[in-house]
Amino acid sequence: MSTWREVEAKYYMQTVRRQPVVIVRGQGTKVWDEDGKEYLDFTAGWAVNNLGHSHPAIVAAIREQAGTLLQTSNQFYTVPQLQLAQLLAEQSCMDRVFFCNSGAEANEGAVKLARKYGRLFRNGAYEVITALNSFHGRTLAMVAATGQPHYQETWKPLPEGFVNVEYNDLEAIRKATTDRTCAVMLEPVQGEAGVIMPSEGYLKAVREWCDEQGLLLIFDEVQTGFGRLGTLFGYEALGVEPDVMSLAKALGGGVPIGAFMAKEQYCVLEPGDHGSTFGGNVLACAAAYASTKYMVDNDIPARAAESGAYLKQQLEGLRSHDPSIVDVRGMGLLLAVEFSSDVSAKVVSACNEEGLLLNPVRPNAIRMYPPLTVSREEIDLGVERLVRGLQKAV
Ligand SMILES: *Cc1c(COP(=O)(O)O)cnc(C)c1O
Repeated sequence: MSTWREVEAKYYMQTVRRQPVVIVRGQGTKVWDEDGKEYLDFTAGWAVNNLGHSHPAIVAAIREQAGTLLQTSNQFYTVPQLQLAQLLAEQSCMDRVFFCNSGAEANEGAVKLARKYGRLFRNGAYEVITALNSFHGRTLAMVAATGQPHYQETWKPLPEGFVNVEYNDLEAIRKATTDRTCAVMLEPVQGEAGVIMPSEGYLKAVREWCDEQGLLLIFDEVQTGFGRLGTLFGYEALGVEPDVMSLAKALGGGVPIGAFMAKEQYCVLEPGDHGSTFGGNVLACAAAYASTKYMVDNDIPARAAESGAYLKQQLEGLRSHDPSIVDVRGMGLLLAVEFSSDVSAKVVSACNEEGLLLNPVRPNAIRMYPPLTVSREEIDLGVERLVRGLQKAV
C-alpha cells in the first residue's frame, strides 16, 4: 500500500470508510490497483459504470466533445443536451427533463416541482411522504427525505416538509396523507437499505392511492435506472409508472450528471423557477447520450436481466449449503446477500484479497452490482472468489 493512504488520512475530510485499494485503471468489469493487481469490480462505481469501465463508446464521445466544446451555459442551446433530452423522453413514460449534477440534486428538483404542483393545484400542499430506510442523498432537504435517523440527527434542524413512513406499508402512507401532502417519493427497490424489494402489489396500491388523492408519485430511480433491474428504468420491471422520476448514477456512464423527468401535465416549472450552472453541461450530456444510446441500441437491460438471473441462481446455490447465508435478494443486477451475523466488513476485505470488489451495504449484508456487461465467465470467477472470501471470513 502506497503513501496515497497517508495522503488521504492527512488531507481528505474523513467522511468515508475506504477499502485499502488505490484503483488506477479500469476496463470493462476489471480494475487494477497501483501494484497491478486485478480485481473484478462488482460495485461498478456504486451502480454508475453500467457499461463497465471506460466503455469505448463513452470514451470516444468524451474525447470528441472535449476537443469541441466543454461548457457554455443554459443561456444557449447545445446539441448533446437536446439529443439526450429527446432520447430519455422517447425511451421513458416521461415527457420533459431537467439536467443537474447528482442524485441528491435530482431529488431536490423533483421535490421543488412537487411543491409547485401543490401550491398550484392542492391549496399550497408541500409535504412529501418518503419511506423509512430510504436513501435520497446528502443535501439537507434530502437528509430530511431520507428516512434513516443516523443520517439525520447531527444535522438538525432539518428542512420541514418530509414525513418518513414504513416501506411496504400502504396503510402508513394513507395515515400520513393530509391536506398538506403533495407527493409520495419512493425508491422502486430500496438500494442503500440493503436491496429491499417492494412487496407484491405495494407500488400499484401506492399508485392508486396517489391517483385517488391527487398526489404526485415520484420514483427515485437514481440507483434502479439504466438497466440495473433488467429494464431501462426500474418502473418498467415493476409495472407501475410514476409521474415524476429522478435519475443520476449510471446516466452519464461514469461522468457526473443527474436529471429529473415528469409527465407533461406535471411540468409546472417556469423560467426562473430552477436552474444550474453545470446542469446539462455539454461534456456530461455527450457522455450520457453515448452511454444511453449504446444501452438502448444493444438492449443491455435485457442482458442485465439474464446475467442477474444467472448470478442470483449461483448465489442461491451457495446459500443452499452455507448456513451463514440467510437471504439472497434483489432483481436484475442489483443483488444482496444477507448473513446470519454482522460479517460484511470481514467478507468484503477477504474478497478484496481474493480480487473481488463488493459493497458492505449493511453490517450483515453485501451488495453486488457489477457492470451490466459482466460476462458469464466473470460471474463464475466472481462467485469462486466470493466462496474463497467467505471461507476466510466466516
Ligand atoms: C446514490 C443515490 C442517491 C444520491 O445520489 P448522489 O449522486 O450521491 O447525490 C439518491 N437516491 C438513490 C436511490 C441513490 O442510490
